[in-house]
Parts: sequence; C-alpha cells; structure tokens
Amino acid sequence: MTNQELLEIIRCPACIQKGPDHGKLTLERDGSWLVCDECGRKYPIREDVPVLLIEEGDKWVNTPVEELPEPGPLVPATA
Ligand SMILES: [Zn+2]
Repeated sequence: MTNQELLEIIRCPACIQKGPDHGKLTLERDGSWLVCDECGRKYPIREDVPVLLIEEGDKWVNTPVEELPEPGPLVPATA
C-alpha cells in the first residue's frame, strides 16, 4: 500500500467522530508524521505503523510540525 492510499483510508480518531469527511490527515516530516488539519493533533508513524491514538495525538497538539522529533521505535526500548 502506498502512503497516498493509506491517507485515503485513515482519519484522525478524534475528528472522525464528527463524520466520515472529518479528520483528514497530511503526511509531514518525510512521511514520519501524520498531521490532522482540523484539530492539529499529530500522530507518529513508527516502523511504518501509524499510531492513531487520541492520547498520542494530544501529546503533540501544541508542537509545531518543524519541531516534531523522530517518531522512534514502535516499542520503546526498556531502560
Ligand atoms: Zn483531528
């Protein structure tokens, strides 16, 4: 599946609750982040897996796109 096909399907889990035309996402940072145009939540793509959790999106809502970090691994390494 290409990223473009992926973008046709997936939506921001917060905004989709308003209807199927809501919560369209834009790929940013060389395709490592998904940004919701509507609410400003940002979802990391970790190891090709989009992490579409509202709690995750909430963490980055006030972070400008240009300041988003590398998304990192899907499962954080234990210390
Ligand atoms: Zn949203």
